[in-house]
Amino acid sequence: MFDCLIVGSGFAGSVMAGQLARGFQKKILVVEKRPHIGGNAFDCYNDDGILVHRYGPHIFHTNSSNVVTYLSQFTKWRPYEHRVLAQVGGKLVPVPINIDTVNAIYGLQLDSAAEMEAFLAARAEKCDVVRTSEDVVVGRVGRDLYEKIFRGYTRKQWGLDPSELDASVASRISVRTNRDGRFFTDSFQAMPLHGYTRMFENMLDDPNIKILLNTDYREAARSIKAQKIVYTGPIDEFFDYRFGKLPYRSVDFQHRTVDQERFQCAPVINYPGEHSYTRITEFKYLTGQRHAKTAIVYEYPREEGDPYYPVPCPGNAATYKKYQALAEATPNVHLVGRLATYKYYNMDQVVAQALTECAKMVGTRRAGL
Ligand code: FAD
Repeated sequence: MFDCLIVGSGFAGSVMAGQLARGFQKKILVVEKRPHIGGNAFDCYNDDGILVHRYGPHIFHTNSSNVVTYLSQFTKWRPYEHRVLAQVGGKLVPVPINIDTVNAIYGLQLDSAAEMEAFLAARAEKCDVVRTSEDVVVGRVGRDLYEKIFRGYTRKQWGLDPSELDASVASRISVRTNRDGRFFTDSFQAMPLHGYTRMFENMLDDPNIKILLNTDYREAARSIKAQKIVYTGPIDEFFDYRFGKLPYRSVDFQHRTVDQERFQCAPVINYPGEHSYTRITEFKYLTGQRHAKTAIVYEYPREEGDPYYPVPCPGNAATYKKYQALAEATPNVHLVGRLATYKYYNMDQVVAQALTECAKMVGTRRAGL
C-alpha cells in the first residue's frame, strides 16, 4: 500500500513525488510508461557522446524565484540566454521581431524605439474584438510581417491557420522595439549544469520513492493500491475519452550527428517557409559541450503520435472544461501538468503548479493523505 501513486515522471510527477516523499514522509510509487524518467525534458548522450534533448530543445527560463530555489536543491546551473533566428526570404533574422529583424527584412536603418513603434503602427491593422492569433499578430505588426514570420510557422506547428487558433497562442510571442535579440527576457535563464535527467535523478532519489519504468498506469492500477493518485498524462485518456478525444499536436524529432564542430550560426533556426520541418536545433549551444562533432534535431509537426501540445482553440477548451469538472468531482485523484490540465505550460509553470497542488494535498491531510 502506497500513500500516493504518481503517474508520469516529468516535471509534474517528479516534483510532486520529491516534495511528498521528502517534505511529508509519504510512500510514493511513480509509474512511467517510457523507459526513462524526466518526461519530455529527458536528455541523454547520443551514440557519439553528445548531450541531446530527445523530445526537442528545452530551455529553462522563469521569473519565479520560488521555482529556482526549489530546483536548485537538485542541480547547479549553467547561465544560458537563448537565441533564435528565422529564415525569411533567404536571410536569417532574429525572432522575436526586433529593430534588427525589420531592418534586415526591409533594408531599413531604424535606430530607436520611437522609429520602430512608428513603423509598426503604420502597418498594424486593428480589429474591434481580438479573438484569434491572427488578430493579435496583424494588430501588432501588420499583415506582411505576419505572413513572412508567423503564419507559415504556425500553420506547420499547429496544423491550423492562426485565424483558427486562440489569441493566447500568439500572446506568447513578443515584439520588441529595441535590439534585444534574446528569445526570452525572464530574470532567470539557465540550463541544468549536468542536464535535466541528472536533475530528475536527484529529485527522485529518496528512500520513500519507488519507480516503475515501462509501466502504463492501467497495468499498475490493477495490482497496486494507493490512497491517492496524481495523474500527469492526458486527461481525456484518464477518463476513457468519455467526452471525446482532446486533440494534441505531436512532433517527429529527427536527430542527426554531423561530422563538423558547428552546423549553424544560432542555437535554433526557424523555417516559416517552404520546408516541412519547423526548426533545427543545435544542442551544443544549449549545453555548452565541446565536441569535434555536433548534434542537431529537425522537428516535423504531426497530427498523430505522442501527445506534446494541447491545441488551444475554443471547441477544445469547452471539452476540457467537462473533463476538468469530472476531475474535480473524482475523490483522491489529482491531475497535474501540461497534458493533465490541457494547458500550454512551460517547465517552470508546471513546477509551480505541482508545488501548489502538493500544498493543497497536504492541506487536506486529515481527510486522507
Ligand atoms: P511530461 O513531461 O509530458 O510528462 C508526463 C509523463 O507522463 C511522460 O513521461 C509520460 O510518458 C508519462 N505518462 C503519460 N501517460 C502515462 C500512463 N498512462 N502511464 C504511465 N506514464 C504515463 N518548456 C520550457 O519551459 N522551455 C522550453 O524550451 C520548452 N520546450 C519544449 C519543446 C517541446 C518540443 C515540447 C513538446 C515542450 C517544451 N516545453 C518547454 C514544455 C515542457 O516540455 C513541459 O512544460 C513539461 O515537460 C511538462 O511536464 P509534465 O510533467 O506536465 O509532462
